[in-house]
Amino acid sequence: MGTPILQVQNVNKRFGGLKALDDVNLTVMENTVHAIIGPNGAGKSTLLNTFVGRLIPDTGTVTFDGQSLIGRKPHEINQLGVSRVFQTPEIFEDLTVAENVMIPAFAKRDGAFRLHGWESMSREAEIRDRALACLEDVNMADRRAMLAKNLSRGDKRRLEMAMCLVQEPKLLLLDEPTAGMSRADTNNTIDLLKQIVAAKSITLAVIEHDMHVVFSLADRISVLAQGHVIVEDAPQHIKGNPKVQEAYLGG
Ligand code: ADP
Ligand code: MG
Repeated sequence: MGTPILQVQNVNKRFGGLKALDDVNLTVMENTVHAIIGPNGAGKSTLLNTFVGRLIPDTGTVTFDGQSLIGRKPHEINQLGVSRVFQTPEIFEDLTVAENVMIPAFAKRDGAFRLHGWESMSREAEIRDRALACLEDVNMADRRAMLAKNLSRGDKRRLEMAMCLVQEPKLLLLDEPTAGMSRADTNNTIDLLKQIVAAKSITLAVIEHDMHVVFSLADRISVLAQGHVIVEDAPQHIKGNPKVQEAYLGG
């Protein structure tokens, strides 16, 4: 048995008449890959938003590493060790690839962009090294001088992963990391994530629509349907589960 790193208990969220999250319970264990799957509109992104300070649940608790995340600002949650890769990449298009990774490294160290004088210059070299190491982790070191806007879609997503990794998160949240990717790019991303998990002490919570991705990566799967976790189990028990099949066919 491992240690729980993220615990979600009885989380509910309504949008007007719609119950987007219906009494969600979920435990992510440290140093595992936990997938949250479900048909479109199941509430996956909404749930993720309650982990990062973007959305406050109507009721329920979300606890990370022993601390409540409810009511905390996104940057505070980030400082606690939670990073997120968004469904649509949020990168600085007009900066180089290396600069994109250096910015979150500065932010993590200082909590804000408060840098001045020679001190910042000596730190810059160290931060540049760390940024390059993370670009190597995502196989993008050779593209460090390119402008981010000139990257392929798959590389933009990998860049965003490097921007998260440079913060050395304990928990990395990925919202559909392979959305819109070709099969080849999807397989590359799966390999990359496996590599990251093997090399680092990190926990991944992956939201996915694509079953292929989930079954290649996850240690544990929670299936969300209409805002409710209908099954939580190991991948080999998810595939044939009639409840899961019904949720996907109905969704
Ligand atoms: P998923 O990520 O699983 O596709 P979402 O979490 O995005 O699903 O959405 C769950 C449900 O909540 C959907 O029916 C969606 O339309 C609705 N929803 C999501 N965000 C909002 C919002 N800010 N206001 C109103 N309805 C929302
Ligand atoms: Mg979504």
